[in-house]
Parts: sequence; structure tokens; C-alpha cells
Amino acid sequence: MPFSDVIGHERPKAILQTALRHDRIAHAYLFHGDEGIGKQLLALRFAQAINCESGDGCDACGTCRSCMQIEARTHPDFLAVEPDPELANPQIKIEQIRDLEHQIAYQPLVSRKKVFLINDADRMTIGAANALLKTLEEPPDHSILLLVSGRPSALPATVRSRCQALRFAPPARTQVEAALILKREIPPADARLLAAASQSRLGAALTMDLAATHAALDELCAVASPQTLRSVAAILTAAEAFHKSDRGPEVLDWLAQWTRDLLLVCVGAGQDHLIHEDRLPLLKAAARSAQADRLAGLLDEIDQLQRSAGRNLNLQMALETVLLHLREALLETGSRLEVGGSK
Ligand SMILES: [Zn+2]
Repeated sequence: MPFSDVIGHERPKAILQTALRHDRIAHAYLFHGDEGIGKQLLALRFAQAINCESGDGCDACGTCRSCMQIEARTHPDFLAVEPDPELANPQIKIEQIRDLEHQIAYQPLVSRKKVFLINDADRMTIGAANALLKTLEEPPDHSILLLVSGRPSALPATVRSRCQALRFAPPARTQVEAALILKREIPPADARLLAAASQSRLGAALTMDLAATHAALDELCAVASPQTLRSVAAILTAAEAFHKSDRGPEVLDWLAQWTRDLLLVCVGAGQDHLIHEDRLPLLKAAARSAQADRLAGLLDEIDQLQRSAGRNLNLQMALETVLLHLREALLETGSRLEVGGSK
């Protein structure tokens, strides 16, 4: 289970392996980036590589006693701290950081370094973060802290500034597809669907229900079909339903993919480039009367909306607007569009 076991993330891997090779490991790292893309896994592999008993010093063998114990969280010089997932509002409490402080004071028992992995570090309470700050200000030489966070902006700047930051971007979709084919033993078309539905987050794609994902896509295709888009009432109902079931961001992502595919079909691009190649007949039928410039404009618009997501974006209104603009792009303006409710 060496570094190569983690898909993508070539840059953070190279930085960590260079540090291992030259024995210049920082006292604290902050692994940050989207959820479910491999930050925690790489942090674990790094912890293994630091104390591996049989590797070359810059990777983990995955099979020695130390590597196995870190994997099983039973290594005496390794501690993983994370919020209690059973709680309604999972937090890392001050007691957990106090426990870490207590352990970090002692020399390693069996290995070179004591490694502390703090997962979902942004979920530390203020008290916990302040306690950790004291350790970060004067870390013992024998210790390494690995903070993992999907929301680094939620961490105090004082904590962030004392860590070497490693930014993780989602791996390329093709890399995720290849990994899914291998690890889930599914056909390429299904792998492509899961990679797209998970926004290239392998962690999520590995556990996604394939049948449910197909069903969700069927539903979305029905909503975005020219037949449904003909009715403004149907658009408003669909936007409201998606919003109420908390699927707004997911539907917006999918609409971006669908619009992109429609545009590619519209301009006659090869079908290899389509995300939803398996829905080619639907895409072709919808693109028949589509206007490429309007689709391109819509793609920009969705991109803008996605960037403002999280900043009080009214998702229901955003979905309504996107669907109404998709309607304009796919259906000729004029007599064919009904302003009323019936199909
Ligand atoms: Zn090992």
C-alpha cells in the first residue's frame, strides 16, 4: 500500500517524497482540498512511509509491522484524532487535543517519529484549536502533525500559518475512471458515470450505489428533455423538488455536464469526449434544434453560479434560471414555446 495506491495528487506526493528522501519533514502539514479525493489516505500513507521498517525511506511498503499497525490504528507512536461521527454536530473536543498533547510529550516508543493525524481538523472547537496552537508553536522534534481539512478557511489563521499547506485538487476524471474499473470491477461506461456523478471524488465514487445513480440520471434526463422543458410549470416544479430534497448543488453540477455534452454534440465533436456518452441518443435528439451560442452562454452562467454557491446562493432560483435558459437554448423561440403550464 505505497503512495502509488493513492490516485492522482502527483504534486503533494512529490513534495512529501522529497521531504522523506532528504529527511526534511516539516513538523506540521495541512492537507486541504475537496472532500473524498484522497487527502486522508495520502496522510495515512505518509505516516506509514515515515516509520516504515523495510521501505527505501521515501515510500511505505504496506506490509511491515509498522505499516500494518498504522493501517489498523494500533501503532503505539501513531494517533488519529477525529470528530465522533455519532454526534449530531461532530466536533473535535479539547479533551482529544489534551490527550494528543499528553502523548506528544514523550519520546517515540518503537519508531523514529510520533505521528498525529487530525482528520476533519476544521471541526475542532475553539478550545481545541487553541490547545493545538500551543503544540504547533513548540512542537517536539520527534513529532509530526498531519492536519486534514475540506474547509481550511474554517481553521484559525494562526493554526494554518504554522503548517506547511498541501493543496489537493480532484484527480483527472480519466484517472478516477481507470481506478473505478480496477477497484469496483465495473464496465467503462459505469465508471464514467460514477466519476462524473461524484465530481471525480474517488472516495465517494467507490461507495456510490450504481443502480441509484443510474436512476437519478434517468430522472435528470427526463427533466432536461425538450418535452419537459416545453412546460414552464414543470420546470418550476422540478426546481422546487430538487431544492427541497437538498439536491440543488448536485443537480447544478449535472446540468453543467449535460449542457457541456449538448454543446459538444451540437458542434459535432467526437463522442469520446462526452461525459454521458451512454445517453448519446437523448443528447442527439435534444441537440437537434439547439443553439450552440446559447449553450455556451449557459455553461458560463452555470459556472458563475457554482462559484457563488455557498455564498447565500438561492439554489431554487438558480435551478429555475438554468432550466429556463436551457429551454431557450434547446427550443426555438417563438410559437413553439408555451408560456403557460400545460405540456
Ligand atoms: Zn512498511
